[in-house]
Amino acid sequence: VDPADSLVHALRAAVAEAPDRTFLAYFDARLSYREADELSDSVAAHLAARGLARGDRVAVLLQNTPHFVLAVLGAWKAGATVVPVNPMYKSGEVGHVLRDGEVAALVCSDRAWESYLRATAADSPVRIVLTACELDFQTRNDARVLGFERLPQAPDADDLVAVARQGGKAPEGGVPGPDDVALISYTSGTSGTPKGATNTHGNIMHNAERQRTGLALPEAPVYYALAPLFHITGMVCQFAACLNSAGTLVLTYRFEPALVLEAFAEHRPHYTVGPSTAYMALAAHPDAGPAHFASFVNLSSGGAPVPPALVERFRDRFGPYIRVGYGLTECSGPCAAVPPGLEAPVDPVSGTLSVGVPGADTLVRIVDEEGAEVPFGEQGEIVVRGPQVIPGYWRRPDATAETFPAGELRTGDIGFMDAQGWLYVVDRKKDMINASGFKVWPREVEDVLYTHPAVREAAVVGVPDGYRGETVKAYISLRPGADAAPDELAVYCKERLAAYKYPRQVEILPDLPKTASGKILRRELRSRAHDNSNAGQ
Ligand code: ATP
Repeated sequence: VDPADSLVHALRAAVAEAPDRTFLAYFDARLSYREADELSDSVAAHLAARGLARGDRVAVLLQNTPHFVLAVLGAWKAGATVVPVNPMYKSGEVGHVLRDGEVAALVCSDRAWESYLRATAADSPVRIVLTACELDFQTRNDARVLGFERLPQAPDADDLVAVARQGGKAPEGGVPGPDDVALISYTSGTSGTPKGATNTHGNIMHNAERQRTGLALPEAPVYYALAPLFHITGMVCQFAACLNSAGTLVLTYRFEPALVLEAFAEHRPHYTVGPSTAYMALAAHPDAGPAHFASFVNLSSGGAPVPPALVERFRDRFGPYIRVGYGLTECSGPCAAVPPGLEAPVDPVSGTLSVGVPGADTLVRIVDEEGAEVPFGEQGEIVVRGPQVIPGYWRRPDATAETFPAGELRTGDIGFMDAQGWLYVVDRKKDMINASGFKVWPREVEDVLYTHPAVREAAVVGVPDGYRGETVKAYISLRPGADAAPDELAVYCKERLAAYKYPRQVEILPDLPKTASGKILRRELRSRAHDNSNAGQ
């Protein structure tokens, strides 16, 4: 069997190579490769005994815990497809996923089941329920994060950990192949109702292999899961890549700067990846120092724009260079990254930091509206072809045909490539601001704002304007203890940008709204700006 077929194969290879090596570290709990294999076998046996068939869907709504990993591996060993769901989703959002994905089994926390998922699942095809109490496995209940109690076992659900400890063999014939769908990852739905991206085992293994061979990590690498595992970045660049390298995955439930720093000090990780907002939050923590980051061979950031000023400030204060990657759910994580040993160039005209070079076997092109390739340096839509690009969306032939013409992914991102092959992301096509016919890309304005010493977070959106059609508005949150007036920030940008680009409106908020994966939610700010401007009319 080729270990590169799926993570189930990779798990077998890791068990054969190092059965007693720690696979999962979670507070004071440790699960070895052998234990994780046995426990997930038992979960698979239970799911099969309850009638789950090959190709059925299992939704998993859990934070970064061993429970998440065991549920996912158990489902894959039963031949099922996993539907990872953001545990912060509200009932309506989960309900859509359960019905649209025609989900047969649900794994969630006992609290979520009691508080809202029982009612949500009642109106869905779910017929098998496993609940998890994240206090299991570990004895050090870290009250800062896990400030909750174990609930009595619900009569209409089975306990995940009890099921995992029952013993049992995964069903014969469950083992997935590279073309089987491993995940249905729902997009966040900024452009209509959420669509399910079908990531195959082959898609995931391609990126996991690239990471194993291309990151220059040591043998048995230690991974820290900064990104949530339910998001494609966490799932592929942390969980899949770590397992595929027979490494150790350190989990601390969810993002909490103090705990992250403690985990860095205790486990000395070699690799992690997270959105730039997570690095900003870590940098703002009073305890953070260079010693916390000394063990990292690769510190990555992707999934959202990375301001060059952040990378520089971070290196000056803590030592490591944050390596940027670019990817989408539709290409199962990254399709371009900054290779080890190199630093990403900054475009001298726009000040944008490159997102790296396309990965092996990956063709990234920049095309115009008609689909024709544009010359180096010219802007156009980024399109991607490669083994990590998904075959399409779950039961959405129209959206599939539109986004993947001839198997090539149209990303909806505007970018350019320089003559050396470095890729730059300008912005999302749909985020462009049209001010009196001038194109303004929010990214460029945000990058300037991030160079201001008082700025912690910046997001730029277009707001309706009677005179210009749209005008540029910046939302800012300030660094702790810093002070800056909105006018001062507008002038700061005016001195550094063309007149049509600088934000004519600046509003300071205590915090900017973010997705669970840490991306700043421009769309929420845009509707706030629209509401305000309508109210003012
Ligand atoms: P939706 O597609 O529904 O809006 P989403 O933001 O959750 O949801 P993802 O697949 O997680 O979708 O994110 C992919 C997008 O993130 C890319 O299309 C791009 O706009 C942005 N992105 C990813 N990496 C980078 C990067 N290094 N620099 C700038 N933008 C990036």
